[in-house]
Amino acid sequence: MKSYRPDFDDVATSDEGDLTQSLRRLVVSDEDMQPTEDLQPTAMTALLFCRDASARKWGPRWLTQFGFETILRTDANDIASHIRTSDADVILVEAGFRDEDGTPLYGSLINAVDVSAPILVLCPSTKDVSAALDAGAFDVVRKPYEWRLIAARTKRVVQAHLVNRELDNAKVAASQAIDLADSARQRLRSRESFEPLTGLPNKSRFGDLIKRGMNAVTRDGNVLAVFVIGFARFRLVIEAMGQERADLLLTEIGYKLNACLKGPRDPAEGAKGLWTAAAASLDGPRFGVMLTCSGQGNDLADMQQRLLSTLSQPVQVASQIVHLSACVGVALYPQDADEAGRLLQRAENAMRDAQSHGGGFRHYCEQSDAAAAGKLRMEHMLHEALDNDELHIAYQPISDTATGRLVGAEALLRWPQGDGSFISPSEFAPVAEESGLMIRLGKFVLDGACRQFDEWRRAGTTLPRMCVNVSKVQLTSSDFVKTVAEVLERYGMDATSLELEISERGVLSGAQDIIDRLHELRALGVRLSIDDFGTGDSAIVYLKELPVDCLKIDRSYIGGMIDDKKDAAIVSAMVTLGQRMDLTVIAEGVETEEQLSLLRQLDCDLFQGFIVSRPVPADKFMVFLENLA
Ligand code: C2E
Ligand code: CA
Ligand code: CA
Repeated sequence: MKSYRPDFDDVATSDEGDLTQSLRRLVVSDEDMQPTEDLQPTAMTALLFCRDASARKWGPRWLTQFGFETILRTDANDIASHIRTSDADVILVEAGFRDEDGTPLYGSLINAVDVSAPILVLCPSTKDVSAALDAGAFDVVRKPYEWRLIAARTKRVVQAHLVNRELDNAKVAASQAIDLADSARQRLRSRESFEPLTGLPNKSRFGDLIKRGMNAVTRDGNVLAVFVIGFARFRLVIEAMGQERADLLLTEIGYKLNACLKGPRDPAEGAKGLWTAAAASLDGPRFGVMLTCSGQGNDLADMQQRLLSTLSQPVQVASQIVHLSACVGVALYPQDADEAGRLLQRAENAMRDAQSHGGGFRHYCEQSDAAAAGKLRMEHMLHEALDNDELHIAYQPISDTATGRLVGAEALLRWPQGDGSFISPSEFAPVAEESGLMIRLGKFVLDGACRQFDEWRRAGTTLPRMCVNVSKVQLTSSDFVKTVAEVLERYGMDATSLELEISERGVLSGAQDIIDRLHELRALGVRLSIDDFGTGDSAIVYLKELPVDCLKIDRSYIGGMIDDKKDAAIVSAMVTLGQRMDLTVIAEGVETEEQLSLLRQLDCDLFQGFIVSRPVPADKFMVFLENLA
């Protein structure tokens, strides 16, 4: 490429400065002038404002050589409009240009908010140089103007300006990054302190609040109460509603709790000493409330009442109205514990105590600890027993009252202990229900009993019916019907040979989803029986709608019917009721000949009890089966 070679003799007109003299001697070779990559013309624009003849001639040439598109203006009036319409990368202006009011043009340009290009001032004198630098010029050039150097310098000015701008951008980005990091940290801190579902302080923050409360009441000689709030059978709610709705339910309860603490109070309460109250979301479906009070008068009782009345109101989730049974445990500082973690744990133990009594309010006492620890231990051991296949099924014969003939067997869970005893299912079933283990236990019994039924059949002895107990937790589980169908299929068992026993206690409350499930089971062909009939308070009301085949009179009535006329009358009425409704009636817990003969007189269909046999392991049950043949 042909290089552009200016004639240096023409360049400078002034004799000022040694630099210029030395520049005069500078020999620019062709090679030097080859536009390097660096000097390749780019889309950079330079605005050049000058009147100096030599500058007008050489300025544009050299600027072009250094890759600038150069716009030359000599008239001050022209300049303003140019600055605003052209997107210049650099402005070179002679110090002599003035505004209408006489101030140097470069000053106005430097101060103009809409001019971002760097300003390079061409200074005829040393005085101009210092004035331009004072005004904030990006760079200055002194006369005599050596345009090759000026162009090179202009390019560096643009580059430096770009670098500065990038630095500024980087600074902005860095400060934005710092802001972002700050807000992320804040979010994290809030996630660490608050439960996302309810927005209430979480367990760890609640612990801090308790500590602070403890410090305050130590100073003031007051009392700090920690309440833990749980719900009876919340697992059933989750099973019935699904996790998502159960979460909504908890959110709603959290909101109500908070509102109950923050809501308007009796103005006299302040005087009574009710000062600080805070609600928190603990792990799972549990809430905490902390309260500092004088501990005298009715402060605590008032708060207790307030909590229970808030929690006893039905909660609406979507279109569903849910009635919950709240369980509240309370522990006090300094009486019950002197450390925040222990105080909370003790309130929680008291709450568990309330839970095992079906709801209500419980103050911490030593027994709460023992009961909670016992439950935890049992839950752990039960898990291990299931994993290690330690659980067995025992079978108790069910016989025809009139003929004494075997008509079926009831499968009963057995948890044998090392010493030959076993823990009763009545003891571990509630723990299994609370911990969710009941679903697994239930499947174990259903599968085991049906497999045994099949084995006996293969051995040539056909038992007419196998009865299996079903817990409410199983009945609320949506895939229970499927589980039953699969088991029947697995062992090729006729559905009518399986009878599912559903306890009247607590289960048959008329909840529509349970009634629906019973109909589905009935549609499969399995028989349904109401166990412990007479102990709940509702089955008789629903008897018309429930698709049941059988009533099992609770053994408490059978045990009492010889000595207590009322029990005898109730048994008689139940037998009649069952017969009128075409239901089979079974008496359970028959221990004596007297009981059996009375049942015969009453025309009770079937019976079971120690009089025939205690529940026995499968191999021992063979004796009864052999009599069948
Ligand atoms: P349940 O269903 O009412 O079972 C009858 C209980 O009465 C059994 O107690 C049985 O051993 C006992 N029993 C039978 N005949 C007599 C008698 O003549 N006298 C006396 N005093 N008791 C008699 P067990 O096996 O301790 O079971 C207690 C409860 O545990 C059962 O009451 C049932 O509700 C529950 N359960 C047992 N096995 C299972 C199971 O596999 N699943 C479920 N969900 N619950 C079970
Ligand atoms: Ca039963
Ligand atoms: Ca029973």
